[in-house]
Amino acid sequence: MSRLLLVSNRLPVTVKADKDGVTVVRSMGGLATGLSRPHERSGGVWVGWPGDVSRLTDAQRAQVESQLANLRCVPLYLSASEVNRYYEGYSNRVLWPLCHYMLDRIPRQDRDWEVYRKVNERFADLVAQQYRPGDTIWVHDYQLMLVPGMLRQRLPEARIGYFHHIPFPSSEIFSTLPRRQELLKGLLGADLIGFHTVSYVRHFSGALLRHLGPDTDIDRIIWEGRQVRVGAFPMGIDATAFETLANDPGVLEEVATIRGKAEGQRILLGIDRLDYTKGIPRRLLAVQRVLEREPAWRGRLRFVQVAVPSRTQVEAYAAYRETVDELVGRINGLYGGVHNVPVHYLYRSFNERQLVALYRAADVMLVTPVRDGMNLVAKEFCAARPDEDGVLVLSEFAGAAAEMSSALIVNAFDVEAMADAIEEALEMSEDERRKRMRALRVQVKEQDVHWWTSSFLTRLEGLPAVAEQKT
Ligand code: UDP
Repeated sequence: MSRLLLVSNRLPVTVKADKDGVTVVRSMGGLATGLSRPHERSGGVWVGWPGDVSRLTDAQRAQVESQLANLRCVPLYLSASEVNRYYEGYSNRVLWPLCHYMLDRIPRQDRDWEVYRKVNERFADLVAQQYRPGDTIWVHDYQLMLVPGMLRQRLPEARIGYFHHIPFPSSEIFSTLPRRQELLKGLLGADLIGFHTVSYVRHFSGALLRHLGPDTDIDRIIWEGRQVRVGAFPMGIDATAFETLANDPGVLEEVATIRGKAEGQRILLGIDRLDYTKGIPRRLLAVQRVLEREPAWRGRLRFVQVAVPSRTQVEAYAAYRETVDELVGRINGLYGGVHNVPVHYLYRSFNERQLVALYRAADVMLVTPVRDGMNLVAKEFCAARPDEDGVLVLSEFAGAAAEMSSALIVNAFDVEAMADAIEEALEMSEDERRKRMRALRVQVKEQDVHWWTSSFLTRLEGLPAVAEQKT
């Protein structure tokens, strides 16, 4: 295995400062878990932003640097204005809505491109400094779409992979972006470009054909004398960890408490960042429709919706929060009683143990984004059900739907159809619930996050080096 240079916007760490000094702790998101093994084994480094450290003194900064070095992380510091314009501005106000088909959320004037480009250049410079011949470089996500191309200029012979963690939209949508060509060329600096699903691969090829017209098969492009491969690598989760937690006695106690509080009721569950792609308003309306049309369910449903605060500096998120708040209030006003409300809305984040307890306590999990690159919550729910019970209602617009066909697949824009699916889930026989959950669990356990990492890296490392391609 060659040394691995990982590159992502955020380092997989959290810097905590208090009166006793600063500590850097590993954060265990999906990506961090999947990449921690190859990161450690290959002896490579991870390049990224450690978060806001502007309030730290010089001495504290030095402590952070040395702790990061122990974790083999190389920090790239971003100024407040860079965070505002490269991260929140271009990445989250332009690329995020674009890739999720929400053109009307993109500002009319694109003012942050230059800063996006410059920060990508800073990343490329820092990675090039760290690079040693023979290393494999793996760049992650839409914040860094120009980095593969910038690295190719600096390191013509390097082996470079890129993974796009969000959807890649149809070329009709992608074509609206003023900087479409620069971004496509940026990606083509890689040897291997990965997406979650075959349809994102198709969309990407369509965009290439339309704007750059290279010599292209769907999964192999000749670009500037090199071969660029494209493939679908659906990301998984650490299924074993979720299953182990789901059997933990403390977690089971919490499951019993959650169920006890909902005595006589069925539990519906939604867990999302509060993001306008997650389809929370239509999901709420679907629950409302069930209560409206089936009086028998009134008082017998408890819909727990966790909404994790997210991107609170971006205006669109504040407006979305108000919409959700209002809907929750309306439904609880209409169908609540003195002792009970149908929607338990929790605007906060939970740790893994608490999440797993919720997953395991739920009768029906509602994952209904209007667009989502993959959606790991859908997979975590199944991994957390060693009891082989619980029904997953899954939007066809989540990348996960491509693999999880044993879920109840719904059109997340169709409120009435979602209400039907909720009722079908509530009324499903135990036999059928088990049959579906078993099939889902096999899939989630076999194609877990370690499978994902190793299939991408094996493919990347098995490709002919640039020098060999020229002969
Ligand atoms: N999550 C969490 N705490 C919460 C809610 C969610 O740690 O309170 C985690 C969840 O376990 C999952 C991730 O956040 O791993 C969400 O990933 P997903 O792919 O579903 O959506 P994203 O937020 O990346 O769009």
